[in-house]
Amino acid sequence: MKKLAAGNWKMNGTAAALAEVKALIDAYPDPACEMLLCPPATLIAQMAWAARGSVLKIGGQDCHTGTSGAHTGDISAAMLADAGASYVILGHSERRADHGERDALVRAKAEAARAAGLTAVICVGETEAERDAGRTLEVVGSQLAGSVPDGATAANAVIAYEPVWAIGTGRTPTLAEIAEVHGHLRARLAERFGPEAAGMRLLYGGSVKPSNATEIFAVANVDGALVGGASLKAADFGAIVGALSAAD
Ligand code: PEP
Repeated sequence: MKKLAAGNWKMNGTAAALAEVKALIDAYPDPACEMLLCPPATLIAQMAWAARGSVLKIGGQDCHTGTSGAHTGDISAAMLADAGASYVILGHSERRADHGERDALVRAKAEAARAAGLTAVICVGETEAERDAGRTLEVVGSQLAGSVPDGATAANAVIAYEPVWAIGTGRTPTLAEIAEVHGHLRARLAERFGPEAAGMRLLYGGSVKPSNATEIFAVANVDGALVGGASLKAADFGAIVGALSAAD
């Protein structure tokens, strides 16, 4: 399995930010891990052009369930692929919170992504209240069951565990807590998908930065990271790529 360092630029970045992409590619022309950036939709085609001939993959941050039609403001998975994307983040907690996305919709979007040849990065994660109530494993297990489609494989699906309370806050779970959740996710995937589950990448996301990446990547069943704020600067994201490349 090739591990994955994925960056989520969220609603950040204009054409001027493409200089960061060029710096990243120059610094990491051939990392041992896979390297992915998911810019806002407005930058996908330009970023794909900037990354042509390099190992950097480009992804979207959301897609519609349909292929085309009367859905003002939406983008289909096929359109993302046409613009140069090979991945799409789905079910991010900000989409779940800001747009009321539920597991069934995330699952339908993942099916649309698969049909368009994209790999879906499907996000799950508990709120702080759910963790405090001791419901973390129940919540992420339920999101996993509801959001991951039956046709998921190691090639077309990546799971990102992102505790909602750790996103953009500078706070992270303990390494033991990350290990517990990732072990649980691996076990649930194995129950459902059998041996295929061993190859499905499980990313940790939530305040990953150069200073904590190495210890997080040493946790069992952590196969990479989904990185928000620290993916905006080539120096920070590159350091995380370097840490993942160095991990066993
Ligand atoms: C994210 O948005 O997926 C994320 C993990 O953000 P941050 O790294 O900024 O916490």
